[in-house]
Amino acid sequence: MQTLVAVIGLQFGDEGKGKIVDKIVAEAQKNNKTVVVRFQGGTNAGHTIYAKDKDNNLVEFITHAAPTGLATNADIAIGPSVAFDPERFVEELTKARELFNYTGRIMISERTGMLLDYHRKLDAWKETKAKNIGTTKSGIGPFYKDNADRLTRITFYDYVSEHFPEKLKEVLEMKKSDLLGAKITEDIDAYHKELLTAHEKIRKELKQYIEILEYRMREYLDKGYNIIIEGAQGTNLDNDMGTIPDVTSSHLLAPHAFPTLGLPRKLFKIIGIEKIYPTRVGNGKLPTLEEDVFGPKVVKNAGEFGATTGRERRVGYPDWALVKRSVMLNDCDGIIMTRTDCLQNMDIKAGIGYVIKGEKTEELPLDLSLIEKPIFLDKTFSWILWKGHEDLSNPLEMDALLKEQRTNYVKNGFDSLPEGLKDYVKEHDKFVGCPIIGISLGPGRDETVDIKWNVG
Ligand code: GDP
Repeated sequence: MQTLVAVIGLQFGDEGKGKIVDKIVAEAQKNNKTVVVRFQGGTNAGHTIYAKDKDNNLVEFITHAAPTGLATNADIAIGPSVAFDPERFVEELTKARELFNYTGRIMISERTGMLLDYHRKLDAWKETKAKNIGTTKSGIGPFYKDNADRLTRITFYDYVSEHFPEKLKEVLEMKKSDLLGAKITEDIDAYHKELLTAHEKIRKELKQYIEILEYRMREYLDKGYNIIIEGAQGTNLDNDMGTIPDVTSSHLLAPHAFPTLGLPRKLFKIIGIEKIYPTRVGNGKLPTLEEDVFGPKVVKNAGEFGATTGRERRVGYPDWALVKRSVMLNDCDGIIMTRTDCLQNMDIKAGIGYVIKGEKTEELPLDLSLIEKPIFLDKTFSWILWKGHEDLSNPLEMDALLKEQRTNYVKNGFDSLPEGLKDYVKEHDKFVGCPIIGISLGPGRDETVDIKWNVG
């Protein structure tokens, strides 16, 4: 069977997409050649997965620039809307070759834009000196600005071509006042030389991977290979449809992937990843924010700190209204709910709308400060997943103790889960109008209870 799937975050990023993509790829790889594709964003995303290395030890592997497929020996591809950081990419590739003996095919679209040193430095300068919007300082904002500006866009084609030194010089001259103003350099010629030297080896190494990607993707499709499209960040951080201005600079909704990769939406399943409780890092409000009991307990149980920045995440009650909107925007076929293992023995409220100007509504406005308060379902949910560990504290640390119970839930499926959790899933399906097709109970590849995979 050919697996054609796009995976997208339904909240504010950090939903656990990396683990789910890794699981889907590992399963798809068993019977077919597979390519994992990144279609937007850059190293501001961080996917954390746990995989067996070449000596069969379980290791943590975090990717920022490359798709998750590096840990599964899948082929990987970088689409034209990605902010491609060649230095970080080569570091990750080298690590994957050491850890997993990675030998997959690598494809980078000739159109992909190059994120270089000055993008990162301009980002950091903007964050410290100018307006602080809580970015990861990976250069994403300045990069997309240059990309949209056309003349300052350096494509992967430019990067690996003979004309790169002239193109880079041209761009640095165009950006001269910014670079001098932010004290990135005092001498454009010297900076130009420095960049050329830093990239000489990397350009040679990456040159072999250039492709007219849309045609390669069609070949994969026509040959019956699996294509897994890996989203980054989350729906509410989309440049147009997120909580502007606290958004990222790219268009990350799953349907955006298809035209940029030359693939037909109608053949793919779009799977939304929902962390059972929403979290947010960086600026911007969380409509169901809870800071008294639920939030602090979740931070403690789940160790909610960002993979890219290490910052503590703010936590809210589940916000089904927000998820419903994300499902609509992404045209989702199914939802996988992650971090379910981190909630138990608490009163869980489910947000189904908001009070704005004294009126009840399901509609999430652009300006979240208009929300006077969230509206919750008229019942709360509670369950005990981990018998003998009712007072859950950090399930990751208790991993070994919970192993047997986890394995049993996965083996015995949805029916074996606690009644309270099953009821939660049923009510969620009813409200959101898109089925939960998997319940993730841990960070490992084999720790997800599948409900129904044949969605649609
Ligand atoms: P992404 O950006 O959406 O890929 O999210 P991350 O890679 O930052 O994932 C967040 C963290 O959650 C990682 O450390 C994952 O290993 C972990 N994770 C994913 N799913 C689960 C789950 O169901 N339970 C637990 N406890 N951790 C999970």
